[in-house]
Amino acid sequence: MTVEVISVGTELLLGNIVNTNTQYLAEKCAGLGLAMYYQSVVGDNEERMTKAFTEAFERSDIVILTGGLGPTEDDMTKEICAKVLGLPLILHERSKQRIADYFVRTSRNNITENNWKQAMIPEGAFVLDNDNGTAPGLIVEKEGGCVILLPGPPNELKPLFEEKVVPYIKKRSPETICSAMVKLCGVGESRAETMIKDLIDTQSNPTIATYAKTSECDIRVTARAASEAEAMALIQPTVDELFKRFGENIFTTHEEETLEQAVVKLLKQKGLTVTTAESCTGGLVAARLINVSGVSDVIKSGYITYCDEAKHQILGVPSDLLEKYTAVSEQVAGAMAIGGAKAAGADACLSVTGIAGPDGGTEEKPVGLVYVGCFLQGDTVVREFKMRGNRDKIREQAVVQALDLLRRRLITDMGE
Ligand code: ATP
Repeated sequence: MTVEVISVGTELLLGNIVNTNTQYLAEKCAGLGLAMYYQSVVGDNEERMTKAFTEAFERSDIVILTGGLGPTEDDMTKEICAKVLGLPLILHERSKQRIADYFVRTSRNNITENNWKQAMIPEGAFVLDNDNGTAPGLIVEKEGGCVILLPGPPNELKPLFEEKVVPYIKKRSPETICSAMVKLCGVGESRAETMIKDLIDTQSNPTIATYAKTSECDIRVTARAASEAEAMALIQPTVDELFKRFGENIFTTHEEETLEQAVVKLLKQKGLTVTTAESCTGGLVAARLINVSGVSDVIKSGYITYCDEAKHQILGVPSDLLEKYTAVSEQVAGAMAIGGAKAAGADACLSVTGIAGPDGGTEEKPVGLVYVGCFLQGDTVVREFKMRGNRDKIREQAVVQALDLLRRRLITDMGE
């Protein structure tokens, strides 16, 4: 089945907002096994929208339209969609009531006549109730194909897609499509692809696709079959093979699980606490850990020690060590990790010290040189990295490497 996405909005064309909806939808649709050959953006212009919609409805089985469902004059997505499909717009009473209720629930009393425009639907459309806004989502079936209209704000689009559109697409599909996500850390995308080139070259069902992230790589395995159980049975041997090849580089096979969640889960399983002693990452390692809800069991505090004095005063890094080796060194990273754990009374401490650039690099210690330390119950390990990219990228990579170092140690040093 083919799918395409059209995002509507002049502000997208002007670059005022980033088209994250299309990126999100493309990833989700790939996960559902749908083939996407076209994505487009069209401004709020009747003629161009009509042309874009007409072409899309002709060539794709499913067309997802996002944005332009608002109450104002220039929100024309639904009106033009209905016109192109030759359907009249009719008032949908439940949506009208929901809009009225939404205004009461959000303590707003500025409902205006044009808000009722959002309760008009193309005749025969399925209405997807929107709990986070006033514009309902819509599914319009026509001549074997279908058009799905979703509001532009991501906090409205995403829940509607997950909760209502995904089950609809799954039901529509003659086959069940299932996928598993194998997430790796410490192996770049190109190396990962090389390591599974034979699997990729011979893939058919399941299919295998790799996605690169900063210092992480995801491998999606997708299978089609008559039932979920059959699809999962097709997927499993490939997942097993990936485990054989990547081993402990794999941190999860759960699509939604992040690296920090995997680390926090391991810490909780082992009943350990962690702290952070950060220099160039300025609290980003702690922030990633604190992304995980319920993390207060494992992290009580963290330290940002940017200058030498802070490293000495807060973490107890000896001044002579700082003088002799400088702050960006294996020795200081190790001392930061030990000192952080001691100061916080934690079982583990991650330390990061490096040169994130663009200034501050020397021939001996260039921009991108980062030391990541990990103290874990008395033992300290320090890794040296030579990272590439701008300041943000270097810091982002450092965070991932720090979390991954702790994860690996929690698995290997302590047994899983
Ligand atoms: P509303 O009912 O809130 O008016 P709408 O369906 O009319 O929603 P738009 O008016 O097109 O949507 O966009 C509203 C906001 O949603 C934009 O200002 C932007 O913040 C966000 N948005 C719209 N389209 C996208 C997109 N493709 N990617 C990310 N965000 C988007």
